[in-house]
Formats: sequence, C-alpha cells, structure tokens
Amino acid sequence: KPSLPTLDASKLTVTLADPSARTVPDEVTACSGTETICTDHMITVSWSLSKGWSNPELKPYGPLTLMPTASVLHYATECFEGLKAFRGFDGKLRLFRPDCNARRMLMSTLRISLPGFDPVELEKLIIALMAVDGPKWLPKSRPGSFLYIRPAVIGTQPQLGVQAAKEALLFITASFMPRMDSPPGGMKLHTNPEDMVRAWVGGFGYAKVGANYGPSLLATQEARERGFGQILWLYGPEGYCTEAGASNFFIVWRRKEGQLQLITAPLDDKLILDGVTRRSVVELARERLAGELEVVERKYTIDEVLEADKEGRIVEAFAAGTAFFICPVSQIHHRGADVHIPMGKANVGGDYTSKIKSWISDIMYGNEQHPWGVVI
Ligand code: PMP
Repeated sequence: KPSLPTLDASKLTVTLADPSARTVPDEVTACSGTETICTDHMITVSWSLSKGWSNPELKPYGPLTLMPTASVLHYATECFEGLKAFRGFDGKLRLFRPDCNARRMLMSTLRISLPGFDPVELEKLIIALMAVDGPKWLPKSRPGSFLYIRPAVIGTQPQLGVQAAKEALLFITASFMPRMDSPPGGMKLHTNPEDMVRAWVGGFGYAKVGANYGPSLLATQEARERGFGQILWLYGPEGYCTEAGASNFFIVWRRKEGQLQLITAPLDDKLILDGVTRRSVVELARERLAGELEVVERKYTIDEVLEADKEGRIVEAFAAGTAFFICPVSQIHHRGADVHIPMGKANVGGDYTSKIKSWISDIMYGNEQHPWGVVI
C-alpha cells in the first residue's frame, strides 16, 4: 500500500487577503471587544484516514465549516497550543522555542487519537504565517509588541459513533493581544474547592486538550467572585501543589536548614503541563543561579507551604506561562488560611522573580542573542 501524504509545509498554497479588510487595533480597542481580533490570515490543513494530509493553505481569516455531528463537538477531540511572536528591540521578529510547542502539540494530538505529524513541519507553518502577517501586525515601530499564535487540531468526522475520528483539521490563527502587565500587587491564588480536581493520575492533565479547560472554569469563576485571580490546583488527600490556573507555579523558599530553593511540581506523574516557560525557568535558573539557589522539581504539599509561611521561610512565588509570562504571586488562600508572600521592595515581585523574568524576556525581544529566540 503506497504511503499517504504526511504534513508537508513546502506544499503550502497562499491566497492573500484584501489588506484593508482587517486593521490593527490599538490596545484600548483590543481590550474593549468581546471577540479575539485575529490577523489577516490563517492556515488550515485537513486530514483523512484514506487520503492523509492535504496541502496546507494560507488564506484569509474566516469561519470554519463543520457538520453538527463533527467529532470535536461531541467528544472533545480537540487540542491546541499557545505561543507568542515578538517584535524585538533589535527590529527582528522572533518566536520563543516554537519547537517545544510543536512537539507538545503532537503529544496532545496523539492523546486524543488524532493523526500524527512531523512537528518540524508544524513549526514551519507557524513561521510561514508570521512571515506574512508579522510585518503588518508587529510593525518595527512597535518594538516590545507581540501576537498570540494558536495552533489547534480537531476531529471533524461527521459521525456520532464513539471512535477515533477518521477526519481532522489542523488550523493556525494569530491574534492581537494587548500587553498584559502583571496584576498590580501580584496574582492572588485560591486553592481549588475540595470537591474539584483539575487532573488525576492516569488522566490527561499533561496534555493541552480542550477537555482540561472547560470544566475548570467553574472553580475559577467562583474564585474571581471572591477577588482571586487563579486557582492553585491541589491534588490528592495530601494536597500536592500542581499548577496555578493555566500556568505552572514556582516558590522560592528556604529549607529548614537555610538552603535557598526554587521549587516546582514534577512532570513525572503526568498531572501538569510541561510548560515552555516552566522549562525555561528551570533550565536558566539551574545554569545561572547555580551555587546560590537549588532548583528542585518534586512533589510538595500545601501544608509544607503553610508551615514554611509560619516559619517565615517563603521568599517569593510566581506563576509561569505564555499568557501571563512570569507573574509574581502575592497571596495564597487555602481553606480559611492566608499565605502572604513578599513582593519585593518595589512591590513588583521579588529579586529572583524579576531576574528570571528579565532573562527570558531579553531572549524573546532580542536583547540577548540566544538559540531559544528563533528569528523569522
Ligand atoms: N499549565 C497549563 C494548564 C497551561 O494551560 C499552560 C499554558 N499553556 C501552562 C501551564 C504554561 O505553559 P507554557 O509556558 O507553555 O505557556
């Protein structure tokens, strides 16, 4: 049997949009609407079990057509990615470690029985979209601006049988996002309600599938009503700290013996997402803070956090992810108890948080030339 076409970015066809159809909003307009503002173009690629991957198409941004019986609408056969494109202070356009996002999307796609692809081809498609829309949406006159890129794969087969979809669609959009400064006074976290968990051992918390997000909104909504920004998701009767909303979570604390540690939940029990920002924090801190601070990925409980707080050993905390980037955390509320975390002299986060944030941001915006910053 001849092998079917694989995902191949070199087969991309291009249909350009009327450039006057979409205009780049200012920050205020972008914040006020109820719709995400996408760039002029998107990329779509369809797949079927019998024909393999079609030629990718770059075309004007617009609606998709789906049958009401499409797999994704009933069985959550959906996964996605999120990464940003940056206009550097050196005038160049960059992605940050897009290879990590492309590989993670392959992992998520396979988890929901959708078709595999070479992640290098996905990365090439992301770059192709930014090569077309980047110059208009991230003009050289706006260094420090960014776009949010959203690749996704959905099962499109119009059949209600509960089975792996035999048809799928991969699509990539890019959207304008106003610059998000960390909330003044830091992010406030509320632990999850006792009867809700985000992920479980043997589940799919480690995959970026839509099914992880919809059901978490209820807890987040309740926390917001109480004045908290995100949920700190605990796991199990021990109350292991896992993630903060759609971000990974880090604490800088002193061990009882006095040693400084940067601690975050481990990846090995597959409860949490292998965040690109998390990975970058861990790698840079290991490299650049060696001897000063020990970086540990291990299970730790909310009780350990409460105890460290009582003993005055908590130094800093932050959430790390593409959307909020590195965001200092100032408070954790857990069942009637509050942990207040130092925010540094200027009240914008502690020294380690600020240092790590500027290291990564320097790579994103080309102030430091580094292999993680991929120039388009
Ligand atoms: N955890 C979850 C559940 C997320 O959705 C995200 C955002 N992708 C992250 C962590 C952070 O990952 P990244 O640094 O790759 O954005």
